[in-house]
Amino acid sequence: MTITLDRPDLLHALTEIVGAANVLTGAAMQPYAEDVYRKLAAPLAVVRPGSVEQLQAVVRATAATQTPLSIRGGGASYTDGYLPREEGHVLLDLGGLDSIVTIDPKAGYVTVEAGVTWAHLRDELARHGLRTPFWGPFSGLKATVGGSMSQNSVSHGSGAYGISAESALSFDIVTADGSLLSTGAAAATGNLPFTRHFGPDLTGLFTGDCGTLGIKARITLPLLRSRAAHRPISFAFPDFATMHEAMRRVSQERIEDSHFALDAALSQGQIARQDRAGAALGIALSIIKSSPSLVAGLRQVARAAVSARKAISGSAYMVHYIVEGFDDAEARARLHRIRELLAATVARSPRPWRRWCAACRSRPSSTRSAPPASAGCRCTASCRTPTSRPSMPRSTPSTPRVRRR
Ligand SMILES: Cc1cc2nc3c(=O)[nH]c(=O)nc-3n(C[C@H](O)[C@H](O)[C@H](O)COP(=O)(O)OP(=O)(O)OC[C@H]3O[C@@H](n4cnc5c(N)ncnc54)[C@H](O)[C@@H]3O)c2cc1C
Repeated sequence: MTITLDRPDLLHALTEIVGAANVLTGAAMQPYAEDVYRKLAAPLAVVRPGSVEQLQAVVRATAATQTPLSIRGGGASYTDGYLPREEGHVLLDLGGLDSIVTIDPKAGYVTVEAGVTWAHLRDELARHGLRTPFWGPFSGLKATVGGSMSQNSVSHGSGAYGISAESALSFDIVTADGSLLSTGAAAATGNLPFTRHFGPDLTGLFTGDCGTLGIKARITLPLLRSRAAHRPISFAFPDFATMHEAMRRVSQERIEDSHFALDAALSQGQIARQDRAGAALGIALSIIKSSPSLVAGLRQVARAAVSARKAISGSAYMVHYIVEGFDDAEARARLHRIRELLAATVARSPRPWRRWCAACRSRPSSTRSAPPASAGCRCTASCRTPTSRPSMPRSTPSTPRVRRR
């Protein structure tokens, strides 16, 4: 049976379901009705369900009036994903679905409501010494697990474990008539959502759909034990092609947890923002804290400040890696392998300025500076020897971090 409601009736019905405070109209909708870049058609109302049952009831009420729905998670996208072109829709803000439903270390999964942010999930799991394989985009302070599963996001954890969708075990989906569909093992009555591949891959159907096939109400992801040690390292490249080739080689060995690359404009922007935020001081303190002694720490801060700034300010492209290990020795071994792979890439590059003379090669990487193409190697004041012998790309020293379990 179809129930027909007119617009005032619909707003009244929505208010009955979620409460007046969670139905926004007029100017109050403004912050929700635009994404990072744009604002398109104005919604009829923004509705914020506080539970999966309320979400289902809202879907039923809008279906009854054939009112289109758009779905917003953290609102951190810039693809018009939840911005319809025609007015009159109801915009669902899923930020109110922010509970972590189950953490089951034994069966190895965590179930969250769709509006949980990646930062919230990471902090909660860290208290148990756990993590998810993919652990969020760079917008993870605001971006939600539901939004990222709907957009096939990449970033944290992608070096080792792939995109967001590859960390999805199961979804509870609210379908167009308001009913609930579970995917993965949970599709069978009484089963826990501990595995994705249980018959045809219904979970995969809903990944990357931008919400067009249904609304993700709950998401289940696998759990991993966090590794105790991690180390970051950064490399500078003069051109995109060499950087891309280096990243390709490293990614094929699956030895890093996360990586990201920036061009010069973005890198400079990051430095400026960090300077403004006083982050440099925070980084320095963290290096000192994790060093065996104050003197060693200060020495490392000085090295990092000089060589990292020099490398970043003089380079067109940067790639940053984070590697993990059971202990620092494993993390260091992974860094060593990344250096080897990058050196092999640079050795094959035809560009002369990335080649170093024998004297330079024997020096620690942080004391090298890039010679201009015309002059050959100028790694030290006395060295003017043009050379075609390849060696390492420039890298910033890495700072050890040991996570508390
Ligand atoms: C500073 C910044 C950094 C970023 N970094 C990255 C990055 O590293 N990697 C990356 O891939 N992207 C990145 N992004 C883009 C964006 O933040 C991500 O795609 C993020 O996953 C969006 O999540 P969200 O919760 O904000 O989704 P929203 O922007 O709210 O929605 C995104 C899409 O998913 C749909 N949707 C949302 N929730 C649900 C749900 N529960 N069920 C069904 N559909 C839903 C929406 O309708 C929309 O189509 C970045 C953006 C910014 C501004």
